[in-house]
Amino acid sequence: MLPEIQDASCAELERWCVDAGEPRYRAEQILAWVHRKRAPSFATMSSLPRTLRERLGSAFRLERFEPAVVAEAADGTRKLLFQLPSVDAKRPAAIESVLIPQVDRPTGARDRLTLCISTQAGCGMGCGFCATATMGLVRNLSPAEIVGQVAAGEALAAPRPLTNVVLMGMGEPLANYDAVRTALEILSAEWGYAISPRRITVSTVGLAPMIPRFIAETRVNLAVSLHATTDAQRNRLVPVNRRYPLATLLAACQAVPLPRRKRITFEYVLLKDENDTDEDARRLVRLLHGLRAKVNLIPFNPFPGAAFAPSPRARVLHFQAILREHHLNVTIRESRGQDIQAACGQLAVARPAA
Ligand code: SAH
Repeated sequence: MLPEIQDASCAELERWCVDAGEPRYRAEQILAWVHRKRAPSFATMSSLPRTLRERLGSAFRLERFEPAVVAEAADGTRKLLFQLPSVDAKRPAAIESVLIPQVDRPTGARDRLTLCISTQAGCGMGCGFCATATMGLVRNLSPAEIVGQVAAGEALAAPRPLTNVVLMGMGEPLANYDAVRTALEILSAEWGYAISPRRITVSTVGLAPMIPRFIAETRVNLAVSLHATTDAQRNRLVPVNRRYPLATLLAACQAVPLPRRKRITFEYVLLKDENDTDEDARRLVRLLHGLRAKVNLIPFNPFPGAAFAPSPRARVLHFQAILREHHLNVTIRESRGQDIQAACGQLAVARPAA
């Protein structure tokens, strides 16, 4: 099978052009047809010489994909299910994206339309409070499959433009780093989707050694899934903590110069009687002391078979109040799309019965 052109970075396509005896500047023209104009085929790229179009057609494929199912929640959140090609029929590579409208009353001036996309089918990180973990890792997504979710999300949202893209769906983005980096280049480039990096956020479980590289090579926002304030507690909730414990993770966050990025977001899912006490809140304050941090508290979204319960609302607010008293910048991520299992940590595509 020919390589998919939507998997190529600009540098890779420039090399192909040079090798093919074409001027280097053609690469951006080709990419603008592929990504910005969403041309359906090489033949329709009318500003390119015919010989180049033919060459492209014999060197690459160009395939678009569409969601197999779109479900809509009572709150207007929509979940897109994609069936991607899989190597193993018993483990289909199904993924989901979520389109989340947020209305800002009364002016509407800050209305948002956020698309949450997946970077892997399933996930291998094994966090006990996340439904995606129950699938295990099926496979990494390619750059084409990551940006293809944005193409489909934009089409569904039209005529409204997306305001934000978050890589917080299925999978661990930094465990599929090369594909994610190419996808981020395509999403933010002028020849691509032209989404400002300030409006893109990548969330990681905390693969500490990848963080400096991520900061150096991309310009998008970083969110880190902290969820616990002691190693014993985090080992239980986020097993990767055994490899990269809190001190290692926070040192990696501490060490990064944050040029354009104002702060790192630390995500903290609130689980009843597990990590939601006043003591947890005070430890969180101490842990983040001296970091350019903001905290995003996530009320736990239950799923069938989950061994945790959500903290009562009063607890969530009290936890937030303690952080605020200590001058931490803290927000609560309101749960969206729960009735169609589209909220954080609810994405999972069942395997067909054997
Ligand atoms: N692998 C990445 C992206 C995961 S999803 C990461 O770990 O950051 C984005 C956020 O949702 C993460 O902070 C994740 O821990 C959180 N999450 C997972 N399951 C959840 C659940 N059931 N309820 C609320 N948040 C959950």
